Amino acid sequence: MDDLRFGTRNKRGDYSPNAPLEGAPLFRWPVQPGRLIRWLPHYFLPWNALFLVLGTALWLWATPSRSTLATLDWPWMTYLLARNATIVLLVFGALELRLYIRRAQGNRFKFNGSFPGDKPSPVFMFGSQNIDNIVRTFGTGVPIWTAYEILMLHLWATGWGPWTTLQDHPLALVALGLVIPFLHEAHFFAIHRLIHWGPLYRWVHSVHHNSVNPSPWSSLSMHPVEHLLYWSDVLIHLIVPSHPLLVLYHLQVTGTGAVIGHVGFDKVEAGADRAIDTHAYAHYLHHKYFEVNYADGLLPFDRWFGTWHDGTEEGERRMKERLRRKKANPLKD
Ligand SMILES: [Zn+2]
Ligand SMILES: [Zn+2]
Repeated sequence: MDDLRFGTRNKRGDYSPNAPLEGAPLFRWPVQPGRLIRWLPHYFLPWNALFLVLGTALWLWATPSRSTLATLDWPWMTYLLARNATIVLLVFGALELRLYIRRAQGNRFKFNGSFPGDKPSPVFMFGSQNIDNIVRTFGTGVPIWTAYEILMLHLWATGWGPWTTLQDHPLALVALGLVIPFLHEAHFFAIHRLIHWGPLYRWVHSVHHNSVNPSPWSSLSMHPVEHLLYWSDVLIHLIVPSHPLLVLYHLQVTGTGAVIGHVGFDKVEAGADRAIDTHAYAHYLHHKYFEVNYADGLLPFDRWFGTWHDGTEEGERRMKERLRRKKANPLKD
């Protein structure tokens, strides 16, 4: 597929899509009903719908019974760890295998023209981005994700928290299910800004940013303190009426869903003339420039705080101007 029909490639081989990043058309005035209607299917498809299906399947067929969850025992807790690790291995591993090991589409649609595997770097364990990313993903990422899951399921099983059922409060549960991606975005923006603060950045978040040229394995490659913060948004289910199925959906949005921003390609080819949009560009620009796109544009926080980069030359100019002002007056920005 000819990626230059959709974007351009510079001398280094880095690909940029032509279309500016738009973000969701929410909180705009005047309201743009046409754009809202066109955007709505993209809110569900493909990612959030996929995670809802996955969360539902896990709840129905791959989560222990309530009586089992009521007692903290190693066998079911270890099972959940193995189950989550398997999902990550299959989803992240399949993307990595196709795009980075087999290089099935070369560097077509690839934001960074080079492949991280070709460039050893001393910032990573054993000089390898992949080894470092995989050790952090399975060493602390999946275990901390699973610890939150164990906590929430155990509290549900023992009746601790405002849990309800679809029969008792259908509207409340559907409404919560619909806003979970927004809750995640708002929480992620807040903690992400926090860990970009100098000392926390150096101690915690720099680990994630070592992957300037991210691949799927970079998605959950974080310092354990960031893992603890990253999944803490799931505690919302102890405050508002909820159901464990929504907890599992939420953990799919945050856990497996982290891969969306780290695919490294604008589109994944699916046949001779078909390709799936990844929605990875906003977060790729964050990895490239560090101080833009703290969220992914679902909610307009970056626009409000002046940190949105839409991938255009104008976006580049705005970023440079802001960084110049910050350098001139570091206490003000
Ligand atoms: Zn990232
Ligand atoms: Zn960051």
